Amino acid sequence: MKVDVKSVARAINRNTIMLVGSAINFPHGVADDITPLATLAKRHDIGMHVDCCLGSFVVPFLERAGFRTVPFDFRIDGVTSISCDTHKYGFAPKGSSVIMYEHKDIRKYQYFVRADWPGGIYASPGIAGSRPGALIAGCWAAMINMGENGYLDTTKQIVGARQKIQAGVESIPDLYVNGDPISTVISFSSRDPLNIYDVGDHLNKRGWNISPLQNPPALHISVTLLWVPSADEFVSDLREVVAALNADPSLRQGKSAAIYGTAASLPDKSLIAEIATGYIDLLYKA
Ligand SMILES: *Cc1c(COP(=O)(O)O)cnc(C)c1O
Repeated sequence: MKVDVKSVARAINRNTIMLVGSAINFPHGVADDITPLATLAKRHDIGMHVDCCLGSFVVPFLERAGFRTVPFDFRIDGVTSISCDTHKYGFAPKGSSVIMYEHKDIRKYQYFVRADWPGGIYASPGIAGSRPGALIAGCWAAMINMGENGYLDTTKQIVGARQKIQAGVESIPDLYVNGDPISTVISFSSRDPLNIYDVGDHLNKRGWNISPLQNPPALHISVTLLWVPSADEFVSDLREVVAALNADPSLRQGKSAAIYGTAASLPDKSLIAEIATGYIDLLYKA
């Protein structure tokens, strides 16, 4: 579930400009080992970016909230940039995000400057031209409203709910948690003969909107504040669904299992990309 630092080291060549690690990643909520990655980047004199988009306003608060944490920020020698999504656990409206640099010398590479344009000397902080003032104001208002104590409190509640869900999953012998989640996201898989997608379909029937993962097959939950009061109920539904599927095999092989089973068996994944493109095309039809 974590990036394999040895493989990264082998993949570096003279075209490599940076390494990237997650704190945390989307599928499994796992953090990469940023310290050895940063050491590697520094040794090759290249950038080291930490994707803290989903970690955003939770991972930096883990320690103060009393949870286990991992090193991920500029205190690690070699980390050169960190991204952080205000629009996720920062609770700002979608469309705002933050990129931070360890040194301003790197920042200037994000600017777009065109000195000879007939429309004037063009200079923009990023590749995008027009920037939405309303989103920036909305982001500012959300952050002022939450404050440090607000984020500390939401970290305690949300990560607490993730721990509850994790303990529930771990108490069901047919299921197991993928990797070592440290923040708000958890994923879990099933042992044969139980198909995890069938578990997902039956949870969906009970009103739980759980997203499927692939490679390996699993279910994913991005725990939010809405999950906090429902974590216990979810665990009890999960337990019932697994028991029902074990008791009655005719309930198995639902639609998600078929879709992901077919997708996994196709050697040429470009076909799946084509079907997905066709699906988006359909959305554009009136
Ligand atoms: C959300 C997210 C991003 C950025 O996605 P946007 O939708 O463009 O904000 C990057 N990395 C991870 C792990 C994320 O969850």
